[in-house]
Amino acid sequence: MAKPAIPAGDNYLANRYHADPMPKPMDKQQFQKAVLDWFQDHGRKDLPWQQQPTPYRVWISEIMLQQTQVNTVIPYYQRFMQRFPDIATLAGAPLDDVLHHWSGLGYYARARNLHRTAHVVMTDHQGKLPGTVDGLCALPGIGRSTAGAILSLAMGQSQPILDGNVKRVLSRCLAIAGWPGQTPVHNELWSWAEHYTPTQQAQAYTQAMMDLGATLCTRSRPQCHACPLVDGCLAHRQGNPSAYPGKAPRKKLPERAVFMLVLTNPDNEILLEKRPATGIWGGLWSLPEGEEAQVLAENWGRKLGQALTVNGTGTPIRHTFSHFHLDISPLYLRVRPEAAAAVMEPGGAVWYKTDLCDQLGLPAPIKRLLGQLANESEGVRP
Ligand code: SF4
Repeated sequence: MAKPAIPAGDNYLANRYHADPMPKPMDKQQFQKAVLDWFQDHGRKDLPWQQQPTPYRVWISEIMLQQTQVNTVIPYYQRFMQRFPDIATLAGAPLDDVLHHWSGLGYYARARNLHRTAHVVMTDHQGKLPGTVDGLCALPGIGRSTAGAILSLAMGQSQPILDGNVKRVLSRCLAIAGWPGQTPVHNELWSWAEHYTPTQQAQAYTQAMMDLGATLCTRSRPQCHACPLVDGCLAHRQGNPSAYPGKAPRKKLPERAVFMLVLTNPDNEILLEKRPATGIWGGLWSLPEGEEAQVLAENWGRKLGQALTVNGTGTPIRHTFSHFHLDISPLYLRVRPEAAAAVMEPGGAVWYKTDLCDQLGLPAPIKRLLGQLANESEGVRP
């Protein structure tokens, strides 16, 4: 039985596949044939980024698909491509515009990295994404799996990928226990991803593996009866596919509380402040925030030349990031015309009509808060 190339000195793999006669992984040719045959009949072939799969189009789709479902990505991808049809247009656009087209997708570092990478590619690579894993991985926001996807899907190279879908299929098929975030498990999965990636038809194989994970070998209730790998799948044979991949150790997320100022002027415009370029929601427009309600109100009162007094807070909302919960308490206050006319830092703050908020890059919870505005703000006055 063929075995994957095992890195010299890797005791973890050596123990797993050499000392122990079980498990018996699927033969390479059998695995590849099953996946490719299935793709011909059942794979997805009409996704927007599969039409004219240039490196640029595939790159944008791969970055959007990180942490986001295909159905959510499609309309964002189409709008993004309409506005930034090529890498030169993306590099030449203001970051604000890129963030606006990302608004609602979350994980905004992805958009900032896209913009930075477009600049680097225009400056250092004559406008073309590099054609090697190392060249791609040197660019902001591109890791090994994304590089593999770009090279296989857009350039037909035989390169493995290991995104969340592929991790799930491989860890089940091979009954690889443990959380893929642990280095030995991660390395083992990469060894198998390399082992099974064919030298021919890499494009179809890569798409097939993604599709298998997304449509059949789903997180809960995998449809093993329809899966082309069912005969050789060790997790299926054990009767417990859902046990793979292992879960990340549970940890209680820390909580952070902030107040956000929802300042409304007589034209019913809301004051938005531009966030610093890096960090949470970097470069997006948001509401002024602070950890102490009255201090926050007084600071902005000074900037606007009007004393602002907090009389109460609106209904708080919770937004959960990957690493902490953020509890946001809104402070609804109105300002007088002369305060609204106060000069603010150019580019740092704007008065904005809430019904036009789709025109700026706003974080999703800020959109939610502004949505609450009509219900809650009446009766709250400075
Ligand atoms: S047989 Fe089931 S668990 Fe195994 S790879 Fe297919 S869908 Fe996943």
